[in-house]
Amino acid sequence: MKDCIFCKIINKEIPADIVYEDGNVMAFKDVNPATPIHLLFIPKKHIPTLMDVDGENAHLMGDLHRAVAQVAREMELESGFRLVSNCNKDAGQIVFHVHYHLLAGRPLQWPPG
Ligand code: 5GP
Ligand code: ZN
Repeated sequence: MKDCIFCKIINKEIPADIVYEDGNVMAFKDVNPATPIHLLFIPKKHIPTLMDVDGENAHLMGDLHRAVAQVAREMELESGFRLVSNCNKDAGQIVFHVHYHLLAGRPLQWPPG
């Protein structure tokens, strides 16, 4: 989608440090990492928020989770990681192309703020 920063990353119009890519999913390093390892997993299809997941596109979220598991194995994250998705303004969503943050590399507090 025009004017979507993550669609521009998918289309290689702007650079990103890509760690995983297949036909439906891409993962890249967050430009402003909150943890030593901070990756973003996105479907290549532009879905604005988690509330826009439906019967047509839900299979892409399954592909996304499969990619998370593969990357977590490759990066040897057995000690733990957190997968989180912010939906809409109260959760602090800034980029309206659905994404999961994979946070790892240090112990994480719970509950989050
Ligand atoms: P949100 O608050 O929407 O869940 O998080 C969006 C995330 O995208 C933020 O952690 C932010 O640092 C990251 N981000 C925003 N723009 C870019 C960009 O152009 N490149 C990369 N790699 N990450 C970005
Ligand atoms: Zn997009």
